[in-house]
Amino acid sequence: MDYQHVIEQVMSATKPHVGEGKVADYIPDLARVNPKQFGFAIATVDGQVYSDGDVDVPFAIESISKVFALALVLSKGDDKIWDRVRREPSGLAFNDLIELEVENGIPRNPFINPGAIVTADQLLVDTGDAVAALRTLLRAETGNPKLEVDSVTAESELRTGERNRAIAYLMSSFGNMVNPVDLALDHYFRQCSFSITCAELAKAGLIIARHGLRADGSRLLERSDARHIIALMATCGTYDEAGNFAYRIGLPIKSGVGGGLLAVVPGKCAVAAWGPALDPKGNSVSGAVALETFAQVSGLAVF
Ligand code: GLN
Repeated sequence: MDYQHVIEQVMSATKPHVGEGKVADYIPDLARVNPKQFGFAIATVDGQVYSDGDVDVPFAIESISKVFALALVLSKGDDKIWDRVRREPSGLAFNDLIELEVENGIPRNPFINPGAIVTADQLLVDTGDAVAALRTLLRAETGNPKLEVDSVTAESELRTGERNRAIAYLMSSFGNMVNPVDLALDHYFRQCSFSITCAELAKAGLIIARHGLRADGSRLLERSDARHIIALMATCGTYDEAGNFAYRIGLPIKSGVGGGLLAVVPGKCAVAAWGPALDPKGNSVSGAVALETFAQVSGLAVF
């Protein structure tokens, strides 16, 4: 595969769409980001990285952290998380509350906010410090020993996190929170606020593309658990746009409201796109165009 050629095609197709959409502003710290940025990176399973654009500009990982938090929980080798969260697409916004009330405090999947808060709560039980566990993992996989939570973003999330607080307390009322709610939320807000670049995100995504193998060759996840995460990315990774993303792009993808998109091509590569301006569902507009072009030009769509 001539990835350099693929990237050139991606960059020229995406250019007219950079800045299209709207930067998330419900978390005030995200509203300050310049929407006219765009980066694209491909990390291959044999360790090559191809990239172009704003690939070294750090941005908030947001919901893409949900992939790594779930991976860490599943790496403990037990399935108890699946008593607390289901594996169905929600068809509703990532911070919806209605389904939770109807479904007795059990979130639809780990990639919407309720499911991710439960996962963070479980990771806190499993490790004693969910943020520290994620930091260690992300530092090792990206090769960046300074990768860190942006404390300004985290503070902004905490200050404006009423919906997430409502979600967590509602789940707690059904007995689906283990730690004190505010403690679990603190870890959740900070996990969303890790500052990461596009190139780093692609490298971290290789854990999933390699079916659970880490950069140093050790195994984080059973192959089957990596496959489970890939399936959830394809069905639930872009919220209530997951069907449309499968149709348009045809890759397992996880998005975040920081404008990042992480796609995996199992056994081949992980691809990260970043453009801070979002569609109404919270997915990067330019990132989606980029991944659509990537899939077309490379022929690597999985469907
Ligand atoms: N931190 C964000 C929130 O809790 C994450 C949402 C997202 O990226 N979709 O709302």
